[in-house]
Amino acid sequence: MRCPFLFITGTDTGVGKTVLTSLLARHLRERGVSVAALKPICSGGRADARMLHSSLDGALTLDEINPWHFCAPLVPLLAARRERRRVELANVLAHVRKIQRRFDVVLVEGAGGLLSSLGEDFDARDLIVSLRAVPIIVSPNRLGVVNHVLLTVEALPRVISRCAPVVLMSPRRPDLASRTNPRFLAGILGPDRVLEFPWLSVAGTSTRALENIRVRRVLDALLAS
Ligand SMILES: [Mg+2]
Repeated sequence: MRCPFLFITGTDTGVGKTVLTSLLARHLRERGVSVAALKPICSGGRADARMLHSSLDGALTLDEINPWHFCAPLVPLLAARRERRRVELANVLAHVRKIQRRFDVVLVEGAGGLLSSLGEDFDARDLIVSLRAVPIIVSPNRLGVVNHVLLTVEALPRVISRCAPVVLMSPRRPDLASRTNPRFLAGILGPDRVLEFPWLSVAGTSTRALENIRVRRVLDALLAS
């Protein structure tokens, strides 16, 4: 990998970022890579951070994975304001870089979609640019996703978006849209950029998911990008 930071962002909230981040972490650990997975900012509970915590098997504490957490299920900036707290970009960057000194690869999960306000005057895009991270765009494979993916790609600086992989999370029951979206998007973005992540019947963040050959194929393709 050419960059120590992979940033897992998405076209929306609840689209599968945490599942993908956890499995990437487990997959890398299986291969003997020293990896951290961070969800620096959480609002509305710390379930995502706890999932990352279990995928790291004690390599980091919950507070190292997620230093900023707010109770209200709101965009993080508003959730922080309700508690009269502030999150500054510089502090988040300092934390992520400090963790990076101890690991070869750092996975960073955003909160919500790319332009969701994470703190005072910054969003996931600012973190990606500041860290020179490789963004991974996670999206549900359903009708409407073509627009959401292209908007997200357009919102990134071209030099960064050029190579950003898109992971389409398969629905439980495929439909006409989910069967035709991947090829159509690949035609626009490039053949190797669009990856189809299978629907998982087992808990998405468990090691059992790694036994799925289609899951491993997606993870390997992401790590090669
Ligand atoms: Mg998540």
